Amino acid sequence: MTTENSQLKDKLAAYFDEHFDEILADLSEIMSIDSSFGTPSEGKPFGDGSAAALAWGAKKGSELGLNVRNFDNYAVSMTCGEGDPALAILSHLDVVPATPEGWQHPPFACTVDDGYIYGRGAIDDKGPSVAVLWAVKALKELNVPLTKAFRVIFGGNEERGCKDIAYYQTKEPFPPMVFTPDGSFPVLNCEKGMIHLTFSAPFNDFTDANYILTENNVKQWEYTIPSVKSISAGSVINAIPDKCVVTYKSIDERDEETKATVLDDSFMAYLFGDDRMRKIIQEQWDKCAYHEVETYTGKPSHGSRPENGDNAITKFLAAYKGGSELLKALARLFPHGEYDGKSCGLGFSDEISGQMTCALTLLNTDGGRLCGGIDIRFPIDRTVSEISGIITKALENAGFTVDEIESMEPHYVPAESEFVQTLLQVYEDVKGERGEPVAEGGITYVHNTPGAVAFGAEFPWEDNRMHGIDERVSVETFKLNLNMYANAIARLCR
Ligand SMILES: [Zn+2]
Repeated sequence: MTTENSQLKDKLAAYFDEHFDEILADLSEIMSIDSSFGTPSEGKPFGDGSAAALAWGAKKGSELGLNVRNFDNYAVSMTCGEGDPALAILSHLDVVPATPEGWQHPPFACTVDDGYIYGRGAIDDKGPSVAVLWAVKALKELNVPLTKAFRVIFGGNEERGCKDIAYYQTKEPFPPMVFTPDGSFPVLNCEKGMIHLTFSAPFNDFTDANYILTENNVKQWEYTIPSVKSISAGSVINAIPDKCVVTYKSIDERDEETKATVLDDSFMAYLFGDDRMRKIIQEQWDKCAYHEVETYTGKPSHGSRPENGDNAITKFLAAYKGGSELLKALARLFPHGEYDGKSCGLGFSDEISGQMTCALTLLNTDGGRLCGGIDIRFPIDRTVSEISGIITKALENAGFTVDEIESMEPHYVPAESEFVQTLLQVYEDVKGERGEPVAEGGITYVHNTPGAVAFGAEFPWEDNRMHGIDERVSVETFKLNLNMYANAIARLCR
């Protein structure tokens, strides 16, 4: 570390320690606004809470002497310095909803308890946003000389579709360097491409038309093979389902179906008219394990991290013994415990992105159709059209049609770029340990912003309960945020 950087680092750390109570007071103000998505109204596209949070950000920016612009309550930008900005820091002031049930601390407040700051937005993304504001304030009050202008941008719709940034982008161009404190440290510079695909086919698991010959050469229905009536698994396409509920057809339903398909009417009349035969069938049915409801249980995880979960759908498919060609094909395409889509013809990886992921996350019967959903995260050296072509072909060969595809191309900022290298150096100097650039399957706020990376705010090992009950950030991490952002702005805009 140069003497200049080292001295500045120490001065900033001392400044934040000295002003920590004021910083917490600001955090408390913004965290007490419920800025989750609300009913849109004239001039408030994401509701009252989001607009109030943006107004709070704008007020703070004005107090800091920044040049503030409110973009119709989609986003607020605040520019520091003259000329075209070299850097933008993009965070969001909206949050996911919270109700007090289950919380140890009130969700819309800032409570410090036992080394943690509790409340909705503590880590996502109000804590980091306040850290950025105070980084700017520290640089100003300590008169740190900057030659380049930079900009802080707060959005109001990250949690519900990122319409904030889509709108903002049409109004103000992004500078060449952009980072968001809405991801993870050290630096997240590689985000895999994403495909969310749904598919379906007409479905009737009719596997019980087969009959066996008994010792007396009498034809007898074989009811020991399951015949699926309905499947219900998964509620969102980007999560590994932990539950797959399968119901099987009843004996009466199977009899009806069997009768309807057998041409030999006289034989059928004999069979179903014969009490003894009916009794044999009933006995066999009672012994059968498949005449009720079965629930397969797995472990949930994010769709971009299937290896952290245990997919209840593929568990069911692996256990399925019936005759449905569709289900058998899915079992072949998605073997339980395989996460990279190899059996679908995928299974790609590259050195920067690592292994791709491919998970069957939805499977439901609906209106006589079997409907499924797949979450794919693919490496940066592939394209949406290539990957969707392969998976579509695999599904079509299995008898399905693809219904809908939502996709994003991969996002990558070279690790060797001066921008990424500077952020990594800041990380090393502030944290005291070397950090390597990270590739992710998850999609961050800046996925569609060219040249942008995520720099913090979370450390992957901290249990911060993001989006959950008792969301929190450790005081230590929050202080690291303050120091990381202040040093980063100073070095990038020097
Ligand atoms: Zn966020």
